[in-house]
Amino acid sequence: MRIGIPDQAPSGISPDVTAFLKAPKMLINGQSVGGEAPGFDVFNPADGSVLAQVPTASEADVDRAVLAARAAMAGAWGGMPGAERTRLMLRLADLIEENGEELAQLETLENGKSIMLSRLVEVASSAEYLRYMAGWATKIRGETFDVSIAVPPGTRYTAYTRKEPVGVVAAITPWNFPLNMCVWKVAPALAAGCAVVLKPAEETPLTSLRFAELAREAGFPDGVVNVITGDGATGAALVQHPGVDKITFTGSTEVGKKIGTKAMETVKPVTLELGGKAPMVFFDDMDLNLLGPATGIGMFFNSGQTCCAGARIYVQKGIYEEAVATLKAITSSLPIGDGMNPANQINPVVSAKHFDHVKGMIARGIADGATPLLDIAAPGQGYYVAPQLFADARSDTAIMQDEVFGPVATITPFETEEEAIAMANDTRYGLGASLWTRDINRVMKLVPQVQAGTVWVNSHNIPDQNMPFGGFKQSGIGREHGTGALDNYLETKSVCVAYS
Ligand code: NAP
Ligand code: MG
Repeated sequence: MRIGIPDQAPSGISPDVTAFLKAPKMLINGQSVGGEAPGFDVFNPADGSVLAQVPTASEADVDRAVLAARAAMAGAWGGMPGAERTRLMLRLADLIEENGEELAQLETLENGKSIMLSRLVEVASSAEYLRYMAGWATKIRGETFDVSIAVPPGTRYTAYTRKEPVGVVAAITPWNFPLNMCVWKVAPALAAGCAVVLKPAEETPLTSLRFAELAREAGFPDGVVNVITGDGATGAALVQHPGVDKITFTGSTEVGKKIGTKAMETVKPVTLELGGKAPMVFFDDMDLNLLGPATGIGMFFNSGQTCCAGARIYVQKGIYEEAVATLKAITSSLPIGDGMNPANQINPVVSAKHFDHVKGMIARGIADGATPLLDIAAPGQGYYVAPQLFADARSDTAIMQDEVFGPVATITPFETEEEAIAMANDTRYGLGASLWTRDINRVMKLVPQVQAGTVWVNSHNIPDQNMPFGGFKQSGIGREHGTGALDNYLETKSVCVAYS
């Protein structure tokens, strides 16, 4: 399995998946734990059936996980050389690939997404991400400084910095790319030498629980990787635990604000990767052949349940009619159905609750005066939402300002570059954006004016482990990927040495 070459074979459910679904367990201090409290159901969005029952972590479970992570930091893990951390991480990446089809099927079953995306993003790109981060474990370094103080007279000083693991990391992840988001957090934390307690979203805990088993199999010492399951209350208990040194969160802006506020009560460092409402700006001179990838990858990747999904489309007047006709035709051609069949490009949204949210946003768009351009039927059973494009949406309405997080986008015409940039920036979010044009001068002039953590040119929604990723404005605080990701899990200690 390699990035860029997804396996197109349809899936029959593997016996490993069936066996795993019988009794998924949390991993605390290297032990499989069922939890004392009643568990909760995980559903298959393709038909609404119950897939598995998963433990709810009690406060005592949260406490034990954090204490296990602290003990690991104080023990074998804390003293382990970087090269050994690298080796364990590479082993884990291999295990993810070796168990790739099982993980991909679990992801499609719990999340609904195409098995192709599960293979490509959740499995292959997660394995590559681990390998990339594994390499950094041996490259952590500080700096040496000349300092100018000379007190008392005759004393000389030299200073250097040490980069030390921040300690126990609480990682909280969303449901849209469950295994990938788990790895985006756990891999740099492990490379930095931290121990982790991960709390995946309640809709999609299964691949993170299987990941924990593979981490144990890879040979990480007990307590280095802990995965606990539960709802937002479990996440809140984890965030507030005094034994946690660092919080890393990916999810909605609303929950991110709560977590950030809690983190500040004890001044814990916090990385927040939050919501988005990305603009895609199509200029008159763009290559119209790119409208295919713009739709499939930019707008409707993962059925629009992507934090960077192109949700607000701005089209220059000269190509407006043609672009709208093409976008309608492409969107109408996307097959809708179960993610286990790789031919289906629009899959069910993640849950009954999210289905109601997306349908509610579409209804609200219409009530607020926007014109729906499509009338596509969706399968009746399961949480399927037919894709929708809106014209005439007012910029101050919910459909333009709030996350739909489904296969829905607005299309708005513009005339000048100034107008396009003003419209693109007219949002509280600032995660991703894209400019589509053949004019390199326009690109170089406009990129600095776009308020977003990532600006793609003639593409959209493509992350890379080596490319910093994160949000301007209310889309977050901090950056993941690249060396910066490691810095999120390191403290800097200045050491000042006097000599005479
Ligand atoms: P969410 O509702 O904010 O939940 C995210 C995680 O936080 C879940 O594990 C959730 O647990 C937990 N949680 C809820 N309340 C909490 C609290 N008070 N304290 C601690 N943890 C709490 O987000 P979602 O609906 O799962 O995911 C979709 C959102 O994620 C969208 O807004 C999307 O834009 C954003 N996202 C951002 C990025 C990025 O990199 N910027 C990437 C992907 C997704 P339960 O679900 O179990 O309640
Ligand atoms: Mg949730």
